[in-house]
Amino acid sequence: MSKPLRVIVIGAGLSGLAIAQGLKKNDIDCVVVDKESTPRDRNWGVTIAWSHPFLQKLLPENLWNRLHECQPDPALDSREAGCESVIIRDGQSGQTMVEPPFPGVRRLNIQKTRRSWGECVHVKFGKTITGITLEADSVTAHFQDGTSETGSVLIGSDGGGSWVRRFLLEDAADAQVLPYMFLNFPIRYPAEQARKMERMMHPIVDVGIHPKSMYIGIFLLDKPDLSRPETWIFYILATWPKGENDVVEDRNYVDELRQRMNGWADPYKSAVEWVTTDIQAKPVPLKIWGTKQWDNRGGRVTLSGDAAHSMTFHRGQGANNAICDSERFVSAMVSVKNADRSIKDALDAYDADVLRRGAQEVEVSRVQTDALHDYANFFNSPIMQHGIKPTIDINANDADKV
Ligand SMILES: Cc1cc2nc3c(=O)[nH]c(=O)nc-3n(C[C@H](O)[C@H](O)[C@H](O)COP(=O)(O)OP(=O)(O)OC[C@H]3O[C@@H](n4cnc5c(N)ncnc54)[C@H](O)[C@@H]3O)c2cc1C
Repeated sequence: MSKPLRVIVIGAGLSGLAIAQGLKKNDIDCVVVDKESTPRDRNWGVTIAWSHPFLQKLLPENLWNRLHECQPDPALDSREAGCESVIIRDGQSGQTMVEPPFPGVRRLNIQKTRRSWGECVHVKFGKTITGITLEADSVTAHFQDGTSETGSVLIGSDGGGSWVRRFLLEDAADAQVLPYMFLNFPIRYPAEQARKMERMMHPIVDVGIHPKSMYIGIFLLDKPDLSRPETWIFYILATWPKGENDVVEDRNYVDELRQRMNGWADPYKSAVEWVTTDIQAKPVPLKIWGTKQWDNRGGRVTLSGDAAHSMTFHRGQGANNAICDSERFVSAMVSVKNADRSIKDALDAYDADVLRRGAQEVEVSRVQTDALHDYANFFNSPIMQHGIKPTIDINANDADKV
């Protein structure tokens, strides 16, 4: 008799946890491991748009019904509030350039979401993957602490710097660093300013682009106490092209951002002006990895989420694709469990779909990043034509033709 199906998920990010929830819902055994032993301090929000139906299939009813608790503002219903869109403004005048609509669009705070989706699934923390061994009908993951996990399939959901991607592709797994300065930092404002900021900004996504080749977004991250605006946390994302000789130095780049704010309109002008002098931030590299075909080792090892396609955040597609991967991987495992397909056939079909979607969106998002820093050409950019929708038919079942 063959061994029962067991999945090893490397990485407890949005993708890994969505997979774990979906497998549990379908009674498929799984373990999730993550290298972190304490939650990381970096936090941001993601725009969930076209991936909603996939998420509904993956999550148990109680978590799906509580999805609003993972939002920066748990009380916001974009439909009721009439803000089912994202806004891109001319940063110089504050006027709307484009406001792509999307029914039901919402933001999720990634740390709140990880806490919620981590409920009732088996996550083992403090486990950094350092090796994979393959047997005829199983795969074993080895961890830095000397322990291991054996299962039928291993999925690397281990983010943009994926170790599993490197195992599969060696040097072809190298990410590309784009020539931009990228700042991402959280802030609190005094109560009066926090209320004013909330009134000025679009509640889902509010970004501005400036003719001087700069992008700024102001977002809500969390409202720990709805009635006390001084507790609300906002965050600023800013990008601008790196000069040829620019190296990231050991200094506070919030000061540099302040110096670059000449000629900006609200809400971005006040968003930066009101940042207190104790706030510090340094640029982080803006990295991408355009999906390349990997050999899934006879249907034993594959990838999902940023491990499979690391894209820039400027079109808000990374998490949507990660959730789509998760649902498609779970469906593939359900077909294996039901003996409709072999693991090899199921993973070949899954990989083909991820490759097609991932390669396309990494490139489209890269083009969008350049266009947001090229004011004159912005109106020719993908967001003008496609808004925040996929640029290809995600339901075209190329995968099944494999
Ligand atoms: C500032 C910003 C804004 C964004 N905005 C949007 C948006 O609006 N819309 C959108 O769709 N997407 C957005 N994204 C992208 C989105 O956040 C990611 O695509 C998504 O979170 C990826 O999830 P993941 O599970 O694939 O990876 P991650 O969330 O990176 O999770 C990977 C996990 O793997 C673990 N791990 C790593 N290495 C190992 C190892 N060797 N062993 C064990 N565990 C390991 C890590 O600890 C981590 O927990 C944004 C990203 C950023 C940075």
